[in-house]
Amino acid sequence: MEAGDEWVLLDQTYFHPRGGGLVSDVGIMKFAGGEAKVVEASFGESGVVHRLEGPVPAAGSFVECSIDWEKRYRLMRLHTGLHVLAAHMVQKTGALITGNNISFDNARVDFSLENFDRTLMEQIVQETNKKLEEGHAVKIYYMEREKVLNTPGMVKLAGRLPPDIPILRIVEIEGIDIQADGGPHVHNTSEVGQIFVSKLENKGKTNRRMYFTVTP
Ligand SMILES: [Zn+2]
Repeated sequence: MEAGDEWVLLDQTYFHPRGGGLVSDVGIMKFAGGEAKVVEASFGESGVVHRLEGPVPAAGSFVECSIDWEKRYRLMRLHTGLHVLAAHMVQKTGALITGNNISFDNARVDFSLENFDRTLMEQIVQETNKKLEEGHAVKIYYMEREKVLNTPGMVKLAGRLPPDIPILRIVEIEGIDIQADGGPHVHNTSEVGQIFVSKLENKGKTNRRMYFTVTP
Protein backbone atom coordinates (compact mmCIF):
# COMPACT_ATOMS: atom_id res chain seq x y z
CA MET A 1 0.00 0.00 0.00
CA GLU A 2 1.22 3.52 -0.86
CA ALA A 3 0.11 6.75 0.73
CA GLY A 4 0.27 10.46 -0.06
CA ASP A 5 -0.99 13.66 1.58
CA GLU A 6 -4.63 12.73 1.37
CA TRP A 7 -4.79 9.54 -0.63
CA VAL A 8 -3.83 5.88 -0.53
CA LEU A 9 -3.29 3.26 -3.19
CA LEU A 10 -4.23 -0.29 -2.12
CA ASP A 11 -3.06 -3.57 -3.61
CA GLN A 12 -6.72 -4.62 -3.85
CA THR A 13 -10.02 -2.89 -3.33
CA TYR A 14 -13.79 -3.28 -3.37
CA PHE A 15 -14.28 0.40 -4.19
CA HIS A 16 -15.73 1.00 -7.64
CA PRO A 17 -13.69 3.88 -9.07
CA ARG A 18 -15.35 6.86 -10.76
CA GLY A 19 -15.79 6.24 -14.48
CA GLY A 20 -18.19 5.36 -17.27
CA GLY A 21 -20.44 8.18 -16.10
CA LEU A 22 -20.78 6.72 -12.60
CA VAL A 23 -19.65 8.37 -9.38
CA SER A 24 -17.31 6.29 -7.22
CA ASP A 25 -18.10 4.39 -4.06
CA VAL A 26 -17.61 6.18 -0.78
CA GLY A 27 -16.99 4.63 2.63
CA ILE A 28 -14.68 4.26 5.58
CA MET A 29 -11.05 3.16 5.90
CA LYS A 30 -9.87 1.88 9.28
CA PHE A 31 -6.25 1.36 10.30
CA ALA A 32 -4.03 1.25 13.36
CA GLY A 33 -4.43 4.59 15.05
CA GLY A 34 -7.54 5.86 13.37
CA GLU A 35 -10.02 5.94 10.55
CA ALA A 36 -10.82 8.21 7.65
CA LYS A 37 -13.65 8.78 5.23
CA VAL A 38 -13.06 7.56 1.70
CA VAL A 39 -14.60 10.39 -0.29
CA GLU A 40 -13.67 9.22 -3.77
CA ALA A 41 -11.94 6.39 -5.61
CA SER A 42 -10.48 6.93 -9.06
CA PHE A 43 -8.20 5.21 -11.53
CA GLY A 44 -4.58 6.29 -11.17
CA GLU A 45 -1.63 5.15 -13.23
CA SER A 46 -0.83 2.24 -10.95
CA GLY A 47 -4.21 1.35 -9.49
CA VAL A 48 -7.26 2.69 -7.71
CA VAL A 49 -6.51 5.84 -5.73
CA HIS A 50 -8.64 6.38 -2.60
CA ARG A 51 -8.99 10.02 -1.60
CA LEU A 52 -9.39 10.43 2.16
CA GLU A 53 -10.85 12.96 4.53
CA GLY A 54 -9.23 12.65 7.93
CA PRO A 55 -5.96 11.04 8.97
CA VAL A 56 -3.99 9.10 6.36
CA PRO A 57 -2.46 5.72 7.29
CA ALA A 58 1.30 5.27 6.92
CA ALA A 59 2.55 3.61 3.75
CA GLY A 60 2.71 -0.16 4.16
CA SER A 61 -0.03 -0.38 6.82
CA PHE A 62 -2.91 -2.81 6.77
CA VAL A 63 -6.25 -1.15 6.31
CA GLU A 64 -9.83 -2.35 6.51
CA CYS A 65 -12.39 -0.67 4.29
CA SER A 66 -16.12 -0.65 4.15
CA ILE A 67 -18.26 0.73 1.38
CA ASP A 68 -21.40 2.74 2.06
CA TRP A 69 -23.72 -0.01 0.88
CA GLU A 70 -26.91 2.06 0.90
CA LYS A 71 -25.37 4.49 -1.59
CA ARG A 72 -23.74 1.72 -3.65
CA TYR A 73 -27.00 -0.20 -3.94
CA ARG A 74 -28.82 2.89 -5.22
CA LEU A 75 -26.03 3.37 -7.74
CA MET A 76 -26.49 -0.22 -8.92
CA ARG A 77 -30.27 0.15 -9.18
CA LEU A 78 -29.98 3.42 -11.13
CA HIS A 79 -27.33 1.90 -13.39
CA THR A 80 -29.33 -1.21 -14.32
CA GLY A 81 -32.44 0.97 -14.68
CA LEU A 82 -30.56 3.20 -17.09
CA HIS A 83 -29.50 0.26 -19.26
CA VAL A 84 -33.10 -0.97 -19.54
CA LEU A 85 -34.45 2.52 -20.22
CA ALA A 86 -31.80 3.33 -22.83
CA ALA A 87 -32.26 -0.02 -24.60
CA HIS A 88 -36.00 0.47 -24.80
CA MET A 89 -35.68 4.07 -25.96
CA VAL A 90 -33.24 3.08 -28.70
CA GLN A 91 -35.44 0.20 -29.83
CA LYS A 92 -38.60 2.28 -29.85
CA THR A 93 -37.37 5.56 -31.34
CA GLY A 94 -33.95 4.92 -32.89
CA ALA A 95 -32.47 7.55 -30.55
CA LEU A 96 -28.73 7.70 -30.18
CA ILE A 97 -27.49 7.66 -26.58
CA THR A 98 -24.77 10.31 -26.34
CA GLY A 99 -23.94 10.36 -22.64
CA ASN A 100 -24.96 9.44 -19.14
CA ASN A 101 -24.22 10.34 -15.57
CA ILE A 102 -25.21 8.48 -12.43
CA SER A 103 -24.88 9.72 -8.87
CA PHE A 104 -26.41 8.19 -5.74
CA ASP A 105 -29.66 10.12 -6.01
CA ASN A 106 -30.38 10.35 -9.68
CA ALA A 107 -29.29 9.53 -13.18
CA ARG A 108 -29.08 11.58 -16.33
CA VAL A 109 -29.23 10.28 -19.86
CA ASP A 110 -28.42 12.36 -22.92
CA PHE A 111 -29.72 11.31 -26.27
CA SER A 112 -30.06 12.53 -29.78
CA LEU A 113 -33.54 12.35 -31.28
CA GLU A 114 -35.31 14.46 -33.92
CA ASN A 115 -38.73 14.21 -32.40
CA PHE A 116 -39.31 15.73 -28.95
CA ASP A 117 -42.56 14.20 -27.82
CA ARG A 118 -43.20 14.20 -24.06
CA THR A 119 -46.11 11.78 -24.33
CA LEU A 120 -43.94 9.30 -26.18
CA MET A 121 -41.25 9.66 -23.51
CA GLU A 122 -43.80 9.00 -20.75
CA GLN A 123 -44.93 5.93 -22.61
CA ILE A 124 -41.36 4.69 -22.93
CA VAL A 125 -40.80 5.11 -19.20
CA GLN A 126 -44.05 3.27 -18.43
CA GLU A 127 -43.05 0.38 -20.67
CA THR A 128 -39.56 0.35 -19.16
CA ASN A 129 -41.11 0.06 -15.70
CA LYS A 130 -43.13 -2.93 -16.87
CA LYS A 131 -39.96 -4.58 -18.15
CA LEU A 132 -38.18 -3.90 -14.84
CA GLU A 133 -41.04 -5.54 -12.97
CA GLU A 134 -40.87 -8.63 -15.19
CA GLY A 135 -37.66 -9.60 -13.40
CA HIS A 136 -35.00 -10.09 -16.07
CA ALA A 137 -31.71 -11.59 -14.87
CA VAL A 138 -28.56 -9.49 -15.16
CA LYS A 139 -25.58 -11.63 -16.15
CA ILE A 140 -21.92 -10.64 -16.13
CA TYR A 141 -19.21 -12.44 -18.08
CA TYR A 142 -16.07 -11.77 -20.11
CA MET A 143 -15.40 -11.81 -23.83
CA GLU A 144 -12.48 -11.18 -26.19
CA ARG A 145 -12.22 -7.61 -27.44
CA GLU A 146 -12.25 -8.61 -31.13
CA LYS A 147 -15.43 -10.58 -30.71
CA VAL A 148 -17.08 -7.68 -28.89
CA LEU A 149 -16.11 -5.18 -31.59
CA ASN A 150 -17.49 -7.51 -34.27
CA THR A 151 -20.86 -7.92 -32.58
CA PRO A 152 -23.23 -5.09 -33.54
CA GLY A 153 -24.72 -3.13 -30.66
CA MET A 154 -22.30 -4.32 -28.00
CA VAL A 155 -20.36 -1.10 -27.77
CA LYS A 156 -22.83 1.64 -26.94
CA LEU A 157 -20.50 4.54 -26.28
CA ALA A 158 -17.41 3.89 -28.40
CA GLY A 159 -15.31 6.51 -26.65
CA ARG A 160 -15.82 4.72 -23.34
CA LEU A 161 -14.15 1.44 -24.29
CA PRO A 162 -10.83 1.11 -22.44
CA PRO A 163 -8.08 1.17 -25.09
CA ASP A 164 -5.72 -1.68 -24.19
CA ILE A 165 -7.79 -4.39 -22.58
CA PRO A 166 -7.90 -7.70 -24.54
CA ILE A 167 -10.80 -9.15 -22.52
CA LEU A 168 -13.89 -7.05 -21.90
CA ARG A 169 -16.57 -7.35 -19.26
CA ILE A 170 -20.02 -7.91 -20.68
CA VAL A 171 -23.28 -7.03 -18.97
CA GLU A 172 -26.31 -8.84 -20.34
CA ILE A 173 -29.82 -8.06 -19.18
CA GLU A 174 -31.61 -11.13 -20.44
CA GLY A 175 -33.89 -10.42 -23.36
CA ILE A 176 -33.26 -6.65 -23.16
CA ASP A 177 -29.69 -5.47 -23.57
CA ILE A 178 -26.15 -6.69 -23.94
CA GLN A 179 -23.06 -4.49 -23.90
CA ALA A 180 -19.46 -4.05 -22.82
CA ASP A 181 -19.66 -2.29 -19.45
CA GLY A 182 -17.49 -1.86 -16.38
CA GLY A 183 -19.91 -0.69 -13.71
CA PRO A 184 -21.82 -2.32 -10.85
CA HIS A 185 -25.35 -3.71 -11.43
CA VAL A 186 -28.08 -5.48 -9.49
CA HIS A 187 -28.72 -9.19 -10.18
CA ASN A 188 -32.26 -8.79 -11.42
CA THR A 189 -34.26 -5.91 -12.91
CA SER A 190 -36.94 -6.36 -10.24
CA GLU A 191 -34.47 -4.88 -7.74
CA VAL A 192 -34.47 -1.56 -9.59
CA GLY A 193 -38.02 -0.65 -8.59
CA GLN A 194 -39.71 1.97 -10.75
CA ILE A 195 -38.18 4.76 -12.77
CA PHE A 196 -39.49 8.21 -12.02
CA VAL A 197 -38.60 11.05 -14.40
CA SER A 198 -37.75 14.27 -12.58
CA LYS A 199 -36.87 16.43 -15.57
CA LEU A 200 -36.96 16.19 -19.33
CA GLU A 201 -35.07 18.87 -21.21
CA ASN A 202 -35.12 19.89 -24.82
CA LYS A 203 -31.60 21.08 -25.55
CA GLY A 204 -32.46 22.28 -29.04
CA LYS A 205 -32.03 20.67 -32.48
CA THR A 206 -31.82 16.96 -31.63
CA ASN A 207 -30.24 16.98 -28.16
CA ARG A 208 -32.42 15.76 -25.30
CA ARG A 209 -31.71 15.19 -21.63
CA MET A 210 -33.66 13.13 -19.13
CA TYR A 211 -33.14 13.04 -15.36
CA PHE A 212 -34.65 10.23 -13.36
CA THR A 213 -34.56 8.50 -10.05
CA VAL A 214 -35.74 5.10 -8.84
CA THR A 215 -38.39 4.39 -6.23
CA PRO A 216 -38.74 3.22 -3.56
ZN1 LIG B 1 -23.42 0.90 -17.86
